Amino acid sequence: MQSQLLIDGCLVEGAGARLPVFNPATGEVLLEMAEATPAQVDEAVRAASAAFVEWGRSTPKARAEALLAVADMIEAHAESLARLESLNCGKPYHCVINDELPAVVDVFRFFAGAARCLNGLAAGEYLEGHTSMIRRDPVGVVASIAPWNYPLMMAAWKLAPALAAGNCVVLKPSEITPLTAFRLAELVKDILPPGVLNVLFGRGQTVGDALTGHPAVRMVSLTGSIATGEHIIGHTAATIKRTHMELGGKAPVVVFDDADLDAVVEGVRTFGYYNAGQDCTAACRIYTHAAIYDALVEKLGAAVASIKHGAPDDTDTELGPLSSLAHLERVTQAVERAKALPHIRVVTGGEKVQGSGYFFQPTLLAGAKQEDDIVQQEVFGPVVSVTAFEDEEQVIGWANDSPYGLASSVWTRDVGRAHRVSARLQYGCTWVNTHFMLVSEMPHGGQKQSGYGKDMSLYGLEDYTVVRHVMIKH
Ligand code: NAD
Repeated sequence: MQSQLLIDGCLVEGAGARLPVFNPATGEVLLEMAEATPAQVDEAVRAASAAFVEWGRSTPKARAEALLAVADMIEAHAESLARLESLNCGKPYHCVINDELPAVVDVFRFFAGAARCLNGLAAGEYLEGHTSMIRRDPVGVVASIAPWNYPLMMAAWKLAPALAAGNCVVLKPSEITPLTAFRLAELVKDILPPGVLNVLFGRGQTVGDALTGHPAVRMVSLTGSIATGEHIIGHTAATIKRTHMELGGKAPVVVFDDADLDAVVEGVRTFGYYNAGQDCTAACRIYTHAAIYDALVEKLGAAVASIKHGAPDDTDTELGPLSSLAHLERVTQAVERAKALPHIRVVTGGEKVQGSGYFFQPTLLAGAKQEDDIVQQEVFGPVVSVTAFEDEEQVIGWANDSPYGLASSVWTRDVGRAHRVSARLQYGCTWVNTHFMLVSEMPHGGQKQSGYGKDMSLYGLEDYTVVRHVMIKH
């Protein structure tokens, strides 16, 4: 397993504290990795700054060719990358190889094309005797901070648009699931010029703070929790860095009484529990019209109880473990707090799975009230709540009554209602009669405390550029 840092085109040992990396399906230590020291963080940022002189001026075509080569390299090593991701995260291997790896490759290919298609206002004489033109230039050195839930995919979402726009990057994957990012570093180090991509290992308070506080870093892009987002915004304020924040979510799933109930059940069974519910868009907060509440809870309960948890390399495993012991404890406590409420009914699940590994049962909690923590707070586990509503106004109010604003869905056969309700939901994305579907061409990102800035799409590429005006007096 590749565990060295990538700095200025070279793989080097971290010289800081050694941390264990676990297999969450068994609880065993896979290896120990050494964090970067503050001096190594500085070296990586300096290497990125130096590389920016050339990379920032390279043609979009040259950058596109490099990104296409990265995509080809990932595709050629898809199986071994998927095995490593499955080992380090506990994800079922068949999900990683069939769902995640193709999406990772596609993100690099999409941004390779997008790099050559940036738009702006037409150049012209907006003031007599002067010609104005718009440029979209790279920002400079970008610090990219990724979470543990989809390590390789989040690295791709961060790297592809930043590099396509001409920036140089220092990536810090999560210290909990670092393995695929460091293997990626090894795979692409000879495709990209030295210093264009640097990858560091370490925790937030050590490597993260040193990196985001570095004066030569011009932008920080985080996918992580709201608490980390708040911290980084404060920490970067002194040097007025651009920030790009993809924070948590608590997606409302609004089910009207004319919805196709079987489609809802299948959708929530899939999109509420995928990746063990460790997904910021997970379909975790169901509001169902009172007229179909009993039928929905009964059918969904049976469907959720049939979700099979097990070893990540079994082909019929649907639900793997949670990513860490600390996270298993957080999810357990959230469910225990909900279970202590007299109106909550555990339809299925509700407990840790006994034995080794960090498994939690697929859980459905009915009777939840709007003010309950289980409705208000992100759990980030295989846990879905159900709440009954009476009318459209009430459910729009409840769906929007949340600090989060990332993803939502509306389930109805009434096209007018689908449009009306979608228009009023305060979420970066609203799906109708589905949930969770992402494509590289469309933006992903939140509002409210779920953050700002977009991943994927041309909007994502623009986020990694600065708009500049050049005016020439005739
Ligand atoms: P986290 O905030 O604990 O960690 C995310 C990353 O931030 C890790 O690499 C961590 O080491 C780093 N970090 C922590 N403190 C830091 C600091 N002081 N300076 C710099 N970096 C620091 O989040 P997590 O537990 O890894 O991920 C789960 C969270 O991420 C959930 O809240 C989830 O909703 C969110 N998430 C959001 C999206 C999205 O697109 N909006 C996608 C995936 C996950």
